[in-house]
Amino acid sequence: MSTTVTLIPGDGIGPDITEATVRVLDAAGADLTWDRQLAGASAAARFNDPIPDATLDSIKKNRVALKGPLETPVGEGYRSVNVALRRSFDLYANVRPAHVILHGGRFEKVDIVLIRENLEGLYYGAEHYIRIADDPKAAAESVALITRYGSERAIRYAFEYAVTHGRRKVTLVHKANILKFSQGLFLEVGREIARDYAGRVQFEDRIVDAMAMQLVLKPEQFDVVVTTNLFGDILSDLISGLVGGLGLAPGANIGPNAAIFEAVHGTAPDIAGKGVANPGALILAACLMLDHLGDTQRAERIRHALHAVIDEGKFRTRDLGGSASTREFADAIIAKL
Ligand code: ATP
Repeated sequence: MSTTVTLIPGDGIGPDITEATVRVLDAAGADLTWDRQLAGASAAARFNDPIPDATLDSIKKNRVALKGPLETPVGEGYRSVNVALRRSFDLYANVRPAHVILHGGRFEKVDIVLIRENLEGLYYGAEHYIRIADDPKAAAESVALITRYGSERAIRYAFEYAVTHGRRKVTLVHKANILKFSQGLFLEVGREIARDYAGRVQFEDRIVDAMAMQLVLKPEQFDVVVTTNLFGDILSDLISGLVGGLGLAPGANIGPNAAIFEAVHGTAPDIAGKGVANPGALILAACLMLDHLGDTQRAERIRHALHAVIDEGKFRTRDLGGSASTREFADAIIAKL
């Protein structure tokens, strides 16, 4: 029976890479029905609402969505649509696997899965200005909220991921030496959970600044990494840079009642509408979605085809050092399938 998936093409390069991804999935014979919905700037322009109810209802019903990047204005306007979607569907874990696909770079053996707590920390949204005398913006305060419940869910997800994917180690990244309460709680919860997995999954912790250095010096030493929201945002871009850039970095947002799959990168306004964006990250996100739906063989087949096209080097997009268009890259993958 066909599975219905909510499809949000998104903004900027979103429509181009979404179209390429849908063509690849169709060519691979994935039995999916697309329920197309709008969100982000395109929805704001059409319905005056960046997250229309129809889009929310569709995700609620289908429980699975594939989403292109969404535009969020910096500093003003509506709050991040991505953050709102994560909150609406309680998507507490963000999973970002990164391994070397483009060979011949600085590293050959990087294979890291970063799991980011997706709802709390500095993304919780408790922010305000403080008035002093006649300056209404004399100061600003943002609260980093960490709860035992939220930390437990994300960290336990990381350990369970390690067990089910045959991974050997979980590294918890924090700044508990300075933020003794909030980051200290995250670390404390991590140490407790690690005991449940003793003998099955190794556990270590790293302070985020040392982690940043270790990641660029010797990334091969890391396996599954779990961290709080903002550190996860920054480190996952760093990690995708180690393995060939944002064009090949997929992500999954996992919750108890829904999962949303997406590329790690944004709308790339500098190349939007030019037909040159790399659809690889969204295609790999769609493979994570197929895994999630239990269609792992097809996901593997698509990944193989994508890897083969990149290895051959004839049809690489510009970000990978080639000159192929979005469409040509997708066509080359389809030919391999
Ligand atoms: P946003 O505000 O939506 O996050 P951004 O430009 O700040 O947009 P990204 O969209 O992540 O951030 O892009 C960062 C850089 O990486 C840009 O130069 C962009 O062109 C490039 N880039 C991102 N995604 C891709 C892609 N799929 N293919 C090619 N280049 C990409």
